[in-house]
Amino acid sequence: MKYLIGNLKMNFTCFESKQYILDLENAIKEADLKDVKIGAAFSHDAIAWADMFKKRNFMFGAQNIFHKEKGAYTGEISIRSAIELGLDFILIGHSERRQLFNETDELINEKIKKIENTKICPILCIGENLEEFQNNRLEEVLTKQINSALKDITTLSHLIISYEPIYCIGNGIIPKIEHIQRAVDLIRKITNNQFPILYGGSVCDTNIKTLLEVKNLDGFLVGGASLDAKNFVNLAKELEVK
Ligand code: PEP
Repeated sequence: MKYLIGNLKMNFTCFESKQYILDLENAIKEADLKDVKIGAAFSHDAIAWADMFKKRNFMFGAQNIFHKEKGAYTGEISIRSAIELGLDFILIGHSERRQLFNETDELINEKIKKIENTKICPILCIGENLEEFQNNRLEEVLTKQINSALKDITTLSHLIISYEPIYCIGNGIIPKIEHIQRAVDLIRKITNNQFPILYGGSVCDTNIKTLLEVKNLDGFLVGGASLDAKNFVNLAKELEVK
């Protein structure tokens, strides 16, 4: 089974998101996929649609969650809502959260702890920045990010890790296949081969075949190329076992 997860970021309004859900459901129905699970991570204003689309044919996700149960945390979204709405997954530690909202490895660990004993699957995003890449610090950065994020996590049975080199997000650039392979092999080693691993960063219809050369990769996290539901689902067709 492969995964194709879209990150819609803050590109749609609440009602545009509803239309996207309808388009996505139709596109998936038409594509009749056998080996690919499709998911989409919605902005907070749109996650309540999950309740209206309970019998959906895709995984419904959020892009972030707060690490406290409830209380005086203006502007935050609770795990209680995520559970109530029946969300399937939540992105944790996306590079935009780390860079623009100063999320630290320690905070990311708290968020995963909050999800740990629920049915929701955290998708942990990790990856080095350009300077770290240029200084050949891939191993050091990924090891720290994973070990910190999973510190004192003992009962988590479902987790997906997405390797997303920050300098390849949203700019059409992908790393060399050998580099992604190095990252995937390392993540497998650190996590004892326990969790599915995705690649994210400028995945689109013109490079997905090349990216499929990476061995032992379980799918992709897609930003820009997920915004058109039909084109997004077309990417999934490439992942089907032929
Ligand atoms: C992302 O933000 O997770 C991402 C992979 O974006 P894009 O596909 O647009 O590079």
